[in-house]
Amino acid sequence: MLSYQEALQIILDTVTPLPPVELPLGQAVGRVAAMTVTARWNCPPADNSAMDGYAVRAADAGRHVAVMGEIPAGRSVDVECAAGHSFEIMTGAPCPRGTDAVVPKEYVRRGGDRVLLPKQIVPGQHIAPQGSECRRGKAVLAPGATITPLAVAVMASFGKSSVQATPKPGVGIISTGAELVPVGQEPKAAEIRDSNGPMLLSLARERGIEQPKQRHAGDSLEAILAALTELTDCDIVLLTGGVSVGSYDLVPQALHAFGADVVFHRVRQKPGKPLLFATKGPQLFFGLPGNPLASHFCFHRYVTPAIRKTGGKNPAREVFQGQLTEPVPPKPVRTYFVAARAQRDELANTWKILAMPGVSSADIFGACRANCYAQIPPGREKIPAGETVGFSWISSPPSIS
Ligand code: AMP
Ligand code: MG
Repeated sequence: MLSYQEALQIILDTVTPLPPVELPLGQAVGRVAAMTVTARWNCPPADNSAMDGYAVRAADAGRHVAVMGEIPAGRSVDVECAAGHSFEIMTGAPCPRGTDAVVPKEYVRRGGDRVLLPKQIVPGQHIAPQGSECRRGKAVLAPGATITPLAVAVMASFGKSSVQATPKPGVGIISTGAELVPVGQEPKAAEIRDSNGPMLLSLARERGIEQPKQRHAGDSLEAILAALTELTDCDIVLLTGGVSVGSYDLVPQALHAFGADVVFHRVRQKPGKPLLFATKGPQLFFGLPGNPLASHFCFHRYVTPAIRKTGGKNPAREVFQGQLTEPVPPKPVRTYFVAARAQRDELANTWKILAMPGVSSADIFGACRANCYAQIPPGREKIPAGETVGFSWISSPPSIS
């Protein structure tokens, strides 16, 4: 049986980024650029005013000068400003020839068509020179860079209405189990509501997947095969339940019949021992355990990096270090990912980890209080309080409080 490090490495070695597509600018945020975008022209395109005020010649400081006209933003001007003259100018408007400074409105005294300029005017003040923000030809976005809202603004300013980027993977989710009924349905005796389906859908959405598809399959080969067939357009298919050793755990068999290759099945970890990973061409399949917390953990630890790498992102999930506040019973041969609550200890400048070993693989209720999984290595006799362990956030780090 593989260790969790080996299992994760196999997934990362198998997964490759999706081929880039041309995305409209409005849909590109958060994606990873697959092209270089270069500035098509200088920004600003001409010397322009950074303030509402008067475009002047600095040499006229301290004098009364004539106001020869008004230049609002958006009007192109082809005038020369002679000595003793000025133009009222708005932020973003091009400065007329001959002017070398802008005096903000608040610093002049205006009377009719004349203004009194301040005694000190520094040449160049409040003028954004042509190309001072970005020179034509400069690379403003490189392949591999994440497209942020500011990067979108940069591309918009250069008239780039679409960009080559790695798309988000399509994700399909199949809840297997004859005992499951949908959320809106009343369970009969021996039935339970499907809670993994909505949980995995939410996890996928939290990772930026827009339209995850959901199916339910009973515990028969035909039903699972039918659901798999309906999700052939998904890059990543998550199956939950039916992946263990019970007589009705048919996911491995169904994947085999579907033509997928099982890359590994079972990992030396708790929770999530039955985890399965399979591929069929570029399509990836994760057989997640039916136990809800185990399913949650396997998504967190294995599916998230696969989604990130498929989408062209760095797959690394950061592992932080913290000190256990209570001893934790270790597992002899399995890495134990115990639901835990990390809290900042400001004085000691560390994270304190309150592990919840009492929370079982089925206990989503207890785990709701957790904000991370602490990682307890196998083979130790006892893990005392104060021991430093790795932990990874379940979602983004909470604000320090
Ligand atoms: P299995 O791996 O299919 O044997 O399922 C293990 C346990 O998880 C059983 O108690 C199932 O009833 C439960 N389970 C499986 N699938 C789900 C699900 N989608 N939602 C909630 N519980 C589930
Ligand atoms: Mg089942």
